[in-house]
Amino acid sequence: MSGSLPPRLAPGATIGMLGAGQLGRMTAMAAARLGYQTHVYAPDAAGSPCAQVSAAATVAGWDDLAALERFARSVDAVTLEWENVPVATVEHLRRFTSVNPGPNVLSVAQDRVKEKSFVNALGIATAPWRAAKSAEDVARAVAEIGPRCVLKSTRLGYDGKGQARIGEGTDPAEAWAAIGGVDGIVEGFVTFACEVSVIVARGGDGAMVAYPAVENRHKDGILDVTLAPARVAPETAAEAERVARRIAEALDLVGVLAVEMFVTADGAVLVNEMAPRPHNSGHWTMDACAASQFEQLVRAVCGLPLGSVERQADAEMTNLIGEDALRWPELMAEPGARLHLYGKAEARPGRKMGHVTRLLPRT
Ligand code: AMP
Repeated sequence: MSGSLPPRLAPGATIGMLGAGQLGRMTAMAAARLGYQTHVYAPDAAGSPCAQVSAAATVAGWDDLAALERFARSVDAVTLEWENVPVATVEHLRRFTSVNPGPNVLSVAQDRVKEKSFVNALGIATAPWRAAKSAEDVARAVAEIGPRCVLKSTRLGYDGKGQARIGEGTDPAEAWAAIGGVDGIVEGFVTFACEVSVIVARGGDGAMVAYPAVENRHKDGILDVTLAPARVAPETAAEAERVARRIAEALDLVGVLAVEMFVTADGAVLVNEMAPRPHNSGHWTMDACAASQFEQLVRAVCGLPLGSVERQADAEMTNLIGEDALRWPELMAEPGARLHLYGKAEARPGRKMGHVTRLLPRT
């Protein structure tokens, strides 16, 4: 079986995972619970969070065609936990097995300009934006959009990396240099009331489920806390869900998609970015929902019916970044705290080491 649609795979089958971080790890754990095995493939797979819980690991480059073919032939379907896996890698793998989400989804999600164009073409709002390939482009964009902007690298930015804030008096050349002088996008700065995200899962048959909109609080550009559900008006939550479903459908996604949005003071929903994989703002689903976002991914790529998104409790998820993880003895002693650690040896600053979920009475 090759190409796009996942075959219906019975328990016992092996899922190939591109990317070896904590998202792959938690997907592999959800797969194992349902009786599936995981084979992880990544240049940095050795000893990785995902390899620690997988039946097999291949350490090889994204451009190693022979290793990719061997990997593809040794698994029953492939998925990914990192949306920046090169499109050519996925296209090559697709000659031998099903890979979802597919190259069309990745090419949109890897490039902020493509992503915003795609979303706007669906009639969905974003902050005003302009592509910028030079300091002059940045200056022109700021003149058009207004003095408060954010310049982001078009590709490979995450957790606030590859971003520069622009305000009154910022030298556009300095801002452009700050993101490394690469292709960028200038976005108008949104004074949001809050940030929300919606995670949807979609099967090869077009069936779709959505978790409730959650509220995300960031610290230093990194997700700090997720509150589930978001404390927003029901119409706002419904609009956020509609937007996420619409995007997943338009992408013809098979897998899981997270859409991050800003909510303005007057309740407008603006898309910030999306990720076609399990997302940090969905970790609470492991402890509070009938089926987690990771289980949904396993189900989608194995051609199984999607699971229930029913929320059995409200939840507050707090990330453990860098040395936060050293608080594990205290967190393990806290009744009701559900601690998840990712098996990373070194607690470097800014590194996601784990998270803790606290359940609250269902609203
Ligand atoms: P991103 O990597 O695009 O998700 O950006 C990381 C965080 O920076 C977001 O979650 C926001 O808190 C903030 N941010 C990004 N873009 C904007 C914007 N256009 N206006 C205001 N805040 C932003």
